[in-house]
Parts: sequence; structure tokens; C-alpha cells
Amino acid sequence: MEVSKGVWTVELSEVDGLPNEAYLLDCSEGAVIIDTGYTAEDLKSIGDQLKAIGREWKEVKLILITHEHGDHIENLPKLKELTGAQVMAGEGDVRGIEIQTGVKVDRGLRHGDYINMCGGIEAIHIPGHSVGNMSFYLQKPRIVIVGDTIFQDEQENLIPPPEKYSLDAETAKNEIKRLLFYDFDILLLAHGKNLLKGAKNRIRVFCEELEAQRLS
Ligand SMILES: [Zn+2]
Repeated sequence: MEVSKGVWTVELSEVDGLPNEAYLLDCSEGAVIIDTGYTAEDLKSIGDQLKAIGREWKEVKLILITHEHGDHIENLPKLKELTGAQVMAGEGDVRGIEIQTGVKVDRGLRHGDYINMCGGIEAIHIPGHSVGNMSFYLQKPRIVIVGDTIFQDEQENLIPPPEKYSLDAETAKNEIKRLLFYDFDILLLAHGKNLLKGAKNRIRVFCEELEAQRLS
């Protein structure tokens, strides 16, 4: 599905009963894949979507990784082989990704780092779910690709990353408010229904609820 011009979702295999999504950006500089999924079927889904937008594997110039967990990186070796693209991820997860996948991460990202593609992509470091957990801000279409920084429960309420999947759930919860520094309208989750309009307001209310819980 094209959520905004040149920004595509790719539905992947479920993880632990949760939906999972990767993203594809179609830009003047080439294509960008954000997260890799983990099954052979996921690899095929990404390839099919790429084909559908008229791109070939070799036109993928960048693979961006939100964090080091298997459901987001296990297809990295195959994607690297198919595309030859540069790989970038949060600095704190670089080592974990390299050990798990055997793929070299070309650039470790820090909070505020800028990637000069697709009208500008800014790295938002939100630690807790993993050390180097990242969300990505697409400046031009005003979209946050939030990754695992926010989850949803079965009623589609926003929730912080669950403790059982997170390195430090308390930090993960407290740092979500970093998103409020960005001006966005759309928020794309890895494991939940995407917020396709008025996303910043939803996140503001969500952060206020978390803060109220923290103080009570
Ligand atoms: Zn995940």
C-alpha cells in the first residue's frame, strides 16, 4: 500500500501473533528498504513490492534497520547480496546486527543524524527496546517510521514496547516523548495499524497518558 507518494508498506509474516511490516521508499536517488522481515516469504514480499513500483534489486541504495531484533534483520544477508546497498542502523545495535547476520553495517547512526536521500531522513534514537533502537523521520512527507518504539494492543490502543520483547521497558516507555520534537502527520508501526492522519496529536495524547500513569 502507498501511504504517501513514494512511501510503501510491505506486509510481512506475523511474529508471535503480531502483524509485522517493512517499508519501501521510492526516491530519485534510488530505493530504500526499511527493515527486512525474517522469513523467505518476507523476502519475496519485499521483492514483489519492489517489482510493482518498477524497481530492481540493484536500484536499492540503502537498507535502513530500526533495531537488532530477528524479525527486523534476519533477511539482511540475502537483501545485501541481492542489492549491494549500504546498510545503516543505530550505533548501539551495530555490533549485535553484525554478529547475528554477518553483514557489515556501513554507518552507525546517532540521534539527529541526517541521511541525504528521499528529501531527508532524520534518525531518532529512542533507546530501551534495544540499545540502539531507532525511529526514522521522513522530512518531506512528514512521516515517522516508528519501528518498535510503539506497539498496539488487540484493541488497537497504542502501548509502549512490551516488557517481554524489550531490553529496558521503562526507558523505552519514558523516551517515546522524543517523537514530539518532530512535525509529522503519519506514523507507521512495525507491529500495528498505521496512523495515516493526525498522528502527532495521537502521540501527544498517548505521551500525556504515559506521564499521568508515571506520576500516579
Ligand atoms: Zn519487532
